[in-house]
Amino acid sequence: MYLSVVVPCMNEEASIPGLVERLTQAVKLWKDSAEIILIDDGSTDATWKAIEAAKASCPQLVGLKLSANRGHQIALTAGLEAAKGDRIFMLDADLQDPPELLTDMMFMMDRGFDVVYGRRSERRGETMFKKATAHLFYRFLNAMSDVPIPQDTGDFRLVNRRSLDAVLAMPEKARFIRGMFAWAGFRQVGIEYIRAPRELGETKYPFRAMMRFAIDAMTAFSTKPLKLATRLSFLSLLMAALMGVYVFYSLVVYQTAPGWASVILAVSFFSGAQLLTLGIMGEYIGRLYVEAKNRPLYFVSEEERDIAPVTQRLRA
Ligand code: UDP
Ligand code: MG
Repeated sequence: MYLSVVVPCMNEEASIPGLVERLTQAVKLWKDSAEIILIDDGSTDATWKAIEAAKASCPQLVGLKLSANRGHQIALTAGLEAAKGDRIFMLDADLQDPPELLTDMMFMMDRGFDVVYGRRSERRGETMFKKATAHLFYRFLNAMSDVPIPQDTGDFRLVNRRSLDAVLAMPEKARFIRGMFAWAGFRQVGIEYIRAPRELGETKYPFRAMMRFAIDAMTAFSTKPLKLATRLSFLSLLMAALMGVYVFYSLVVYQTAPGWASVILAVSFFSGAQLLTLGIMGEYIGRLYVEAKNRPLYFVSEEERDIAPVTQRLRA
């Protein structure tokens, strides 16, 4: 069984030597049947030099340098596409996710799971703000999303070939990889671990990048925001009807100022009508969006039949 380790690195010159050392230890058992793929995501520091230097003492190492910074999820995708392994292990360069957990993840995979992801039971050395926003984000995302996305997980996971192939078959450009693995299905299980503080360098996810990431995730896995207008319009039209009753009552009983009734009615009715039209457009745009994403319709996880399974026939 061949093992691939995939690590995206952006401005991680300080982390690379320690990372390569701990990874080589963690994959020692695999000897020649392992590769460690480091992707330099358009770093502006000496990350690429550090990768080249590490290569000298670690023959399993594969370095890929992207032509420019494309972001964490794209860098990870580049590594996943290059991976040759039957099993693929992915983690961050900063050693916040312990590579030693690979043994436990392998154990679970041997028991038949296709995806074993790390679930952070605790995050050390991160600001209250990051912890709070991350907590809220995963809960809100789940409330909005049509597929259950495991809470408090990152891109720290071990996957097998068929689940990776499933994710690589999704041609979408906005890639929220942890959600894509969740969406792909198959048998998944989480292992709890304590997320260590970043050892060297600093976070590549300042607030702005976190927001962009959150919006990518939300829009990639839910079209509910687009349909919000439809719901609001029902509320608004209902209110317009109630206002109508109130307006006529006031007109007759209190003799209100001329023009008041018609203005109120026009405002409440037309805002409802506008929201309704927006909502209808949202419904269509949502469907267009799903079509444009062009994801595969399904993946086969098990087959029972006499002839060779489809996957084998395709390879033959
Ligand atoms: N990363 C990357 N490209 C980017 C931003 C981040 O390849 O544009 C990598 C980074 O080097 C690290 C991983 O993505 O290996 C996660 O980033 P970081 O540890 O800074 O995120 P945090 O743990 O603070 O959420
Ligand atoms: Mg980190």
